[in-house]
Amino acid sequence: MAKHTIVLIPGDGIGPEVTGAARRVLEASGLSVEWVELPAGATALEQGFDTVLPEGTLAAIKAHKIALKGPVTTPIGKGFKSVNVQLRQKLNLYAAVRPVRNLPGIKTRFHGIDMVIVRENTEGLYSGIENEIVPGVVTSMKVASEAACMRIARYGFRYATRRHRRKITVFHKANIMKLTDGLFLNCARRIYEEEYPNIEYEEVIIDAGCMKLVQNPEKMDVLLMENLYGDLVSDLCAGLVGGLGVVPGSNIGDDAAVFEAVHGSAPELAGKGLANPLAVIMSGVMMMRHLHEDVLADKVKNAYNAVLEEADKTKLTRDLGGSAGTEAFADAVIARMR
Ligand code: NAD
Repeated sequence: MAKHTIVLIPGDGIGPEVTGAARRVLEASGLSVEWVELPAGATALEQGFDTVLPEGTLAAIKAHKIALKGPVTTPIGKGFKSVNVQLRQKLNLYAAVRPVRNLPGIKTRFHGIDMVIVRENTEGLYSGIENEIVPGVVTSMKVASEAACMRIARYGFRYATRRHRRKITVFHKANIMKLTDGLFLNCARRIYEEEYPNIEYEEVIIDAGCMKLVQNPEKMDVLLMENLYGDLVSDLCAGLVGGLGVVPGSNIGDDAAVFEAVHGSAPELAGKGLANPLAVIMSGVMMMRHLHEDVLADKVKNAYNAVLEEADKTKLTRDLGGSAGTEAFADAVIARMR
């Protein structure tokens, strides 16, 4: 079996705990891997770097083309530019792909949820262009370029078609942001009409879309949207299927891919060994598929599904109603693979 070299960024807060547990689970599947562990976020500053995204970390991801990343803490207000925004822009990780599904044994208000959020990851309101015009008046620039809108639309339609999904829904606010969201919408419509006319396609204004999501989420399939909306809707959707502990994600570009959970560094849980590592484990499964290690990916997936299905509270973390810690859940998944 080929040995994979994967950059591991433990991150901040619960990051080292959940990535550590995920690493053990992935290794237990038989994945042949050499981890290149490097810092980012507050951890990098603590280690003496003068930046939250050290050049060596960025260079390693460029060289090895793949990373598993824990969450990083982004201080509110002035200071360093977000690690995530920098990584996505500098590595051109233009598509965030976040599958949201009901999982076995996790009781929620809804059944049959199986959707995928495809989020434009490099521009929109997260372009980081903010100005103080005069004291007391500040602006934030929402950027939309035709190239990036076409690229994410094409990615979303290609993803949906390859995975035999039935429908693409574009969330937008083009009624108000006529130029930026108008361009995003027009690009999606063009790709649909010119390249993928056979898939079901709908356009929904995002406020109404959020209502639909909490009324009939099972009717949604692939959701395509710009950066900020994708960020917000991801957490909303996580809440539909059991919370942030169970939703994985990937940031995909043409030259590199970074896999990470949707959740953040959950500072209030940090260092307590209580966080759920499942979202990072699931992100690891997405990463293994990216590496064409489907057999091993299935092995991990079947193991965590079995643990969830069993619904033994001593093996589930607190966010899922159990009493297990981070490592105990990972142990239970590993035991299922033996
Ligand atoms: P958060 O996702 O860290 O936490 C939101 C809620 O979900 C909290 O109640 C937390 O306890 C819970 N939660 C999150 N992950 C969990 C897990 N694995 N197991 C159990 N419960 C979990 O969001 P926040 O509190 O808004 O943000 C905290 C910090 O994380 C901020 O600095 C934010 O900027 C950062 N953040 C980073 C990323 C990333 O690096 N990808 C993503 C989102 C937020």
